[in-house]
Amino acid sequence: MKGLRRPDAATRLRHMHDRLARAYGPQGWWPARNTFEVILGAYLTQNTAWKAVELSLDNLRNAGALTLDALRSVALEDLQRLIRPSGFCTRKAPALKAFITMLDTEFAGSLCALAATPTQPLRRRLLALPGVGPETADSILLYALKHPVPVADEYLRRIAERHRLLTPAPEHNRKSYESLVQLTRDAFASDAAEHLVPIFNEFHALVVAVGKAHCRKTADCTSCPLAGDLRYVSA
Ligand code: SF4
Repeated sequence: MKGLRRPDAATRLRHMHDRLARAYGPQGWWPARNTFEVILGAYLTQNTAWKAVELSLDNLRNAGALTLDALRSVALEDLQRLIRPSGFCTRKAPALKAFITMLDTEFAGSLCALAATPTQPLRRRLLALPGVGPETADSILLYALKHPVPVADEYLRRIAERHRLLTPAPEHNRKSYESLVQLTRDAFASDAAEHLVPIFNEFHALVVAVGKAHCRKTADCTSCPLAGDLRYVSA
């Protein structure tokens, strides 16, 4: 579109957030009851839908194993069986055990002590754990431990690609994940630091909402709240 002045990508992403917030309203994430459940959910939801995670959480609850104390003593084989509905249980169960070992040996078993660690060293520590990639680490940091870090999931990657927010288009790798995180940080750079936890929380939830409603494998742009931004794609 000739003559159309295109705002920078961070400004566009901020406007996209504003449009989604107007269209969908408050999202009220994360769908878990307490800090430890959020951490469990962040592990269990890897490569699976939340409905499957709920089945695993129900299994753990029914077995009296849905607490940090209980998971410390549950045998690895039993944990694998209880979380089987979420898939990859032979990888996720040892990963959860490794998280608890780290918590007990380095943070005196305290989630509060874990949460009190500065963001960047804590992010590096989480990323060094088995079975923890950047999306899982950032979900734990943001939703469980209340650190101001954005979560860049597959839906955001897809939207960024379709709206050409990043050049080259984001791929499925660590570098592109970090580019999306930085773009999201830039989009909210003018917001006060103390507001960033609820903002990033809500933004991720809104991205998931539009991803599920419209930006699926085949895009349904017709009534999507973000369709207006597409005019910049060919500008
Ligand atoms: S469905 Fe279309 S308008 Fe909506 S976010 Fe995806 S590409 Fe953009």
